Amino acid sequence: MQHEPFKLTITRSKRKTLVIYIRDDGVEVRAPLKAPQSWIDEFVELKKPWILKKLKLQKQKSSERLKLEQGETILFCGKEYKLSLSQGKNQVRVESDMLCIQARQLEEDYLKKQLQQWLLQQTKENFEPRVWQLASVMGLDDNVKDVRFRKTKTKWGHCTAQGVLQFNPLLMMAPISVQDYLIIHELCHLKYMNHSKDFWQLVEGNCPDYKESEQWLKQHGHKVWC
Ligand SMILES: [Zn+2]
Repeated sequence: MQHEPFKLTITRSKRKTLVIYIRDDGVEVRAPLKAPQSWIDEFVELKKPWILKKLKLQKQKSSERLKLEQGETILFCGKEYKLSLSQGKNQVRVESDMLCIQARQLEEDYLKKQLQQWLLQQTKENFEPRVWQLASVMGLDDNVKDVRFRKTKTKWGHCTAQGVLQFNPLLMMAPISVQDYLIIHELCHLKYMNHSKDFWQLVEGNCPDYKESEQWLKQHGHKVWC
C-alpha cells in the first residue's frame, strides 16, 4: 500500500472485523490475525474517500488548535482574545481584547501551566458556584457530594455513581451557555448513568438549547485543548 497518500499501519489482533482509525500521523487498520492482505487493501480502497475526508478535517483541526504564541487567538468564555505574552512575575489577566500571560519563562510548557492554573482558579470562582446553583434549581443539590476539577485528555466532565462531579478546567474557554450545558449534562447523570432517551429528555427539559452547545463543542472544542 505504499502508493497511498497517507501512512497506513496495520495492527493485527484477535478480532473478527476490519476497522479504520484516523490517527495524528496517518491511518491505522485493525485486522484479524489471519486477514489476507487483499481483503485489507480492498477495504482501504473502498473507504478511501471517507479516509481522505477525515484526514483533511483532522489537519484543519490540528492547525486550529490553541498555540501559546504572541498574537494567537485564544477563547475565554467563548469570546476571542489575542494572546499577549511577556516575561515577568507569573500572572494572567484579561485586558480589553487581550489575554495577557506574564510568566517567568516563555517556554510553551511553562506558559501552558500558567494558563491552566489561571483557568482552574476561574473555574473555582465562576464555574463551581453555578454547579451548585443549577443543582439546586434541578433539586439535585443533595445528590452532589463533591465538585472537582481536573484536566484530562479527552473529557469535559465526568460523574460518578457516588455523586462526585468532575470538570475539565479547559471548559472555561467555552461560552457560558456551553458551560451550563456541561453542568446540566453531568447533573442529569445523577439520575441516569447512561445516555438513554430518558437521559436526553431530562437534559432537554433543563437545557432546551442543548443541541446548539453540543454543536459548538463539535465545531470548536478542539481549539481549546492544550
Ligand atoms: Zn454523558
